Amino acid sequence: MGLFSLFRCRKDSFSLDWIQVEVTSRCNASCLYCPNTIYQDRWRNDSMGMETFNNLVPAFKHAGLIFLQGWGEPFLHPRIFEMIEVAKKAGCMVGSTTNGMTLDEDTTAALIDSELDILGISLAGTKSETHDRIREGTNFECITESLLIVKEQKERKHVTLPVVYLAYLLFRSNFEDLDSLISYATKVGAKEIICSNLTFFPLPDLQKEAIFLDESKKSYYEEKLKSIQANAERNGIRLFFYKPFFDRPLLLCPENVLKSCFISHDGSVSSCVFTNIPLREDEEPDSRCFDKRGYPVRIAYGNVNQQPLSEIWNSDAYREFREAFYQRQKVLKEDLDAAMDAVIYQNSEPEKKEAGAISNLPRQCRDCYRMYGV
Ligand code: SF4
Repeated sequence: MGLFSLFRCRKDSFSLDWIQVEVTSRCNASCLYCPNTIYQDRWRNDSMGMETFNNLVPAFKHAGLIFLQGWGEPFLHPRIFEMIEVAKKAGCMVGSTTNGMTLDEDTTAALIDSELDILGISLAGTKSETHDRIREGTNFECITESLLIVKEQKERKHVTLPVVYLAYLLFRSNFEDLDSLISYATKVGAKEIICSNLTFFPLPDLQKEAIFLDESKKSYYEEKLKSIQANAERNGIRLFFYKPFFDRPLLLCPENVLKSCFISHDGSVSSCVFTNIPLREDEEPDSRCFDKRGYPVRIAYGNVNQQPLSEIWNSDAYREFREAFYQRQKVLKEDLDAAMDAVIYQNSEPEKKEAGAISNLPRQCRDCYRMYGV
């Protein structure tokens, strides 16, 4: 069971596995694939005010985990430790993912003292030449140094938190770096690795970096990821990877959208980060792209500065969004029941309702690569 799977459990109505909170949309890096870099001229650089954050607090008792991360670097928020403290006091587990560029001795000490539960570090390579080229403005040596500081301080303080995981972004041009990923994770004390694909392309050229669009090497990518996963397991590290090839659409978005939500720094609420990119309202995110594949439509269901999160979650529009996924699962069950009846009672070929049809998806998900499990 993966780190995030621990929070997945079935509960009724407004009961969430996690709430993802974008504490800031500002960033101190310029990763070559990030919309923050590419759309800098129309990016809304801003941070969440404490008033907005406090409006969320009543919802915390309905969530297992508060994850402080969005389209910016969370540790640039001057009051991030106050936010961690508030969420911990509400009884939640708290996590965050960082580019690792602000984790000096003092920040790390504060972070450990805050009892942050999960600390993710974004990586796009296991050596400077690769990582620093893709994640421009960050520095692989500096990140490694920071991770070693976290490890050393945890050992000195005899604590196990935060659990460190590596968020490795798979590119065609960094794929071979995976060979040393497990030895690197062992060295820096990371217990989990999540390998994800680049699925959002703010520039068409970036599609050349997506391994799941490289059909010719599909088996190679899969075999290699499986072998690295096995190596991780032998070393006591859990490694999860998203599929390295395109397949049929899933029944349910893998972002756990039935049990989680995303809050933008301005308080607006959406189902995931992809449907709430902080661009100025009058700008279309897809205006520079040759097609709309990989461009989820922007949709917010409300704003916590105007309504409690529970109300937004239960609004008609948000319920309708989730219902589309429940229906897909229901149709699959009906298809399976019909197929079973056909075998048992020797009926004629049952009528298939196509549970996985793209047309049954919420509008914003129809062009999203995530729906294909990549
Ligand atoms: S399918 Fe894509 S756009 Fe839809 S909720 Fe999932 S991640 Fe977001």
